[in-house]
Amino acid sequence: MIYEGPLSKCPFCVTFEETPHHLFLHCIFSWNTWCLILVWWQMLWVCPPSLADLANWWFDNRFRRLERHIWEVTFFAALWSLWLARNDLVFNNVSRSITEVGVGSMP
Ligand SMILES: [Zn+2]
Repeated sequence: MIYEGPLSKCPFCVTFEETPHHLFLHCIFSWNTWCLILVWWQMLWVCPPSLADLANWWFDNRFRRLERHIWEVTFFAALWSLWLARNDLVFNNVSRSITEVGVGSMP
């Protein structure tokens, strides 16, 4: 659970409050991670306003069966990788690069 008190800054940018939408989507670190993943998939996107909007867009795809499964797993792998990177930074003071997080999310 992410503490949403007034003192919790995003550990990636240390600028904005750490909310789920910021941490997993709108933070420059997370945004660049999604961009890296989407470039690999040769997809263009516009950053949506919420995680729900991202999920709706992500799961409304036209991939064939195998690609669709990999694509859908990539969504959860990206969220999980961002969460692990956040926890490594907060609890172990270990910084992960966008490439490490993004590549770690891909098949
Ligand atoms: Zn941030």
